[in-house]
Amino acid sequence: IQTSLYDNNIVTSPYADCEFHDMTLTQKFFESAVRWPDKIALECGISGRRYTYNTMSQAVRRFGSALTRMGHGKGEVMGLVCPNVPEFSIAVFGAAGVGMPVALVNPTYTADEIARQMTLVEATCLFGVSEMAETLKAVAQLCPTVRRIVLLGPSQDGCVSYQDMVQDSGDLFNDNINIDIDNDIFILPHSSGTSGLPKNVMLTHSSVGKNIQQYLHPEGTNSRPATATHQETYIGLLPFFHSYGMVGLVLAAVESGAKLVTLPRFDIPSFLKAIDDHKPTYLHLVPPLVSLLTNLPELKAESYCKVHTIFCGAAPLGAPAAIKLLERFKHPVSFQEAYGLTEMSPGVMMGPLGNKKLGSCGSLLSRTQAKIVDLETGQRTLGPYEDGELYVYGPQVMKGYYKNQKATDEMIGADGWLRTGDIGHYDEDGHFFIVDRLKELIKVKGFQVAPAELEEVLTTHPAIKEAAVIGIPDERAGELPRAYIVKKPGMESISDSDIHAFVNAKVSAHKQIKGGIQFCDSIPRNTMGKILRKELRVQYSNCSK
Ligand code: AMP
Repeated sequence: IQTSLYDNNIVTSPYADCEFHDMTLTQKFFESAVRWPDKIALECGISGRRYTYNTMSQAVRRFGSALTRMGHGKGEVMGLVCPNVPEFSIAVFGAAGVGMPVALVNPTYTADEIARQMTLVEATCLFGVSEMAETLKAVAQLCPTVRRIVLLGPSQDGCVSYQDMVQDSGDLFNDNINIDIDNDIFILPHSSGTSGLPKNVMLTHSSVGKNIQQYLHPEGTNSRPATATHQETYIGLLPFFHSYGMVGLVLAAVESGAKLVTLPRFDIPSFLKAIDDHKPTYLHLVPPLVSLLTNLPELKAESYCKVHTIFCGAAPLGAPAAIKLLERFKHPVSFQEAYGLTEMSPGVMMGPLGNKKLGSCGSLLSRTQAKIVDLETGQRTLGPYEDGELYVYGPQVMKGYYKNQKATDEMIGADGWLRTGDIGHYDEDGHFFIVDRLKELIKVKGFQVAPAELEEVLTTHPAIKEAAVIGIPDERAGELPRAYIVKKPGMESISDSDIHAFVNAKVSAHKQIKGGIQFCDSIPRNTMGKILRKELRVQYSNCSK
């Protein structure tokens, strides 16, 4: 690859500029749907409930139309608190099609966690499944802007049934609604960014739409558009509420006319059954799933005989893990590791096809640039093999954090470059390697955990004076949260099990402090009072040696 890939230490993409369009993502979906009307678009891997592109398209129109009839529309946000079911995609395209941004929420969150996110975005309508009725009603109590709960399932007190909504919606869907793709928000996923509490990331129709085109660049993907004799099949196990699942599975499937098999929860027998029943062509994984599949004796060669590409992202993987998984396959399979972050809609880099450099996150997507900035000065840009903070630039940069200009300014400079908070380097071919993280973020099985959020929960305990949380390495989960706690005077009898019970009642499973609790006399802080997490990390690694 030419040295011009990193002239002046600014690395550019090896790919030709991809084409962009100027449609909303719902319009783009309708355009796809008419190309493959009779192909299966969505199928529930548990119940077998399925939609063709044609019936999905009708359902999108009807759902959007019903929202309009019920008085919802542009200027309002819909909270989607839903596991992976076929109707997830229908709700997204339906709401976005009538101008409502969709806030994506982890359905395993507690009512308090959901309410915090819904309050920040002032959601007026929540969408979930009937099993979540009580949680969503509790959220509505805590979040006064919510005036409607839509549930997939039979109607019940205080909630509207999705099925009833789409039965009789009249055709109020407005194809000519005025949506400014560069400014109007398509989705609002959650991310803590480089520091602090989780925030809502404004991704516009344009930033996400462009990111799909960058990701599906014909020179960089094996995902071929459907034809009379061909259709890609994706297994939708990774959560759709995360930007990787939303863009890499839901939106990429639609763009390629693929079949997306949805799995509502992480359950190995259902995953294996879905692979066996549907013979996927693609596997979308995160690092913990790579090691799980590698060591799963039940995975049969006939089930994955059609897999031509494995895609892995959201956390560091390493070459040995990729090689071990590939050894299970009896035929050649492309392995594409990808790197991204929610704030980049989310794709930034991806391993090229036929990639021999496993362990690298690959090269920059089309129309994307990157630089590595010296950690000491925060100014000087570095050359190949020198570690520093990764900064990125491209049309997929987020619009900002919802109603949080301060946090937006901390992440995006006046020149439009975004600070990733990740540490890494590139080689002479413009391939990147992420080696560490500068930001506070902890990733448990690919899910974000914000230390500040856990510290906030911990310090509401009556016996806790101060708390600090860091991530520690874990073979199965990638990382686990670990807490350092200073007790209040006179509260010495409080035990770690009391604290675990207190935290577990307030947060979802992946945020539980499974990396352990350590009581201490003080928390290391700088002169501004900021917790010195690095010191705690060093302390931990010295003790665990
Ligand atoms: P999220 O916004 O939840 O997608 O998290 C983004 C963060 O996940 C990045 O800033 C990285 O810290 C981490 N990450 C994502 N992909 C990779 C990768 N391939 N290798 C290392 N870290 C990654």
